[in-house]
Amino acid sequence: MQAQIEKLVKLQSVDLERNRLTLAIRALPSEIAQATAALTAAERLSADTSDSLTREESLRTRLERDIASHRQKTARFRTQLDSVKTPEQAAAIEHEIAFESAEAERMENEEFESLERSDAQEAALAAARANVEFLAGVLDKTRSRVEMSMSELNAQLAALTLERDSLRPLIEADALARYDRLSGSRGTGIARVENQQCTGCRMGVRPQVWNQLREGELLSCDSCGRLLYWDPAMAPAPKAPQPEHTPAARPRIPKSQTAGA
Ligand SMILES: [Zn+2]
Repeated sequence: MQAQIEKLVKLQSVDLERNRLTLAIRALPSEIAQATAALTAAERLSADTSDSLTREESLRTRLERDIASHRQKTARFRTQLDSVKTPEQAAAIEHEIAFESAEAERMENEEFESLERSDAQEAALAAARANVEFLAGVLDKTRSRVEMSMSELNAQLAALTLERDSLRPLIEADALARYDRLSGSRGTGIARVENQQCTGCRMGVRPQVWNQLREGELLSCDSCGRLLYWDPAMAPAPKAPQPEHTPAARPRIPKSQTAGA
């Protein structure tokens, strides 16, 4: 019986490790997805900043064209001023000159503001491009790290699967079927008894069960159904059994119990 218990305990530790590895393998692609999302966001910011710069540049091209046009008109009006006949004509032309000059000046101010915005955008674009480069490097490193982890974890998983396949035929069919059913529903199929309690569900075991376990039998927990065993290597210094304090006939409902056996 002791050999059977040892094999079941070993099988369970192999199965738990296989589950852990499977979850870790399944989580790996999300690291690449996260790094990709960060890079995509940085690329979008860089493209948006570059678009803003382009818009400012075309705004200035338009402003410069309009300024030149207003300046030309001003020059033309000044020439006309030389040949006016009446003070009214002169006043009207002076008015046009004032308007055209004011427009040219307003647009020059607007152009200056646009240049200041472009300075800030150029700095932002340089930072955004550096960030894109950095995050592209992060993505490359993440990809190779994930690839390496993936092959390491898969190799460990393959080794554990071999170990599992070599253990299972050595275990009695009934015990193995019980173990499989309980592992499937509760995550573990076999539990050590410690301080007269099932370590799977924390319920106390009956004194008779406790005694049989200590004789090396493989029994079932009345409460959660898991296979129970006692590990002499982990037993504390011998002390008198305390049957009065052990809940036997009506065990408490365990808090952690989630699924039916
Ligand atoms: Zn239990």
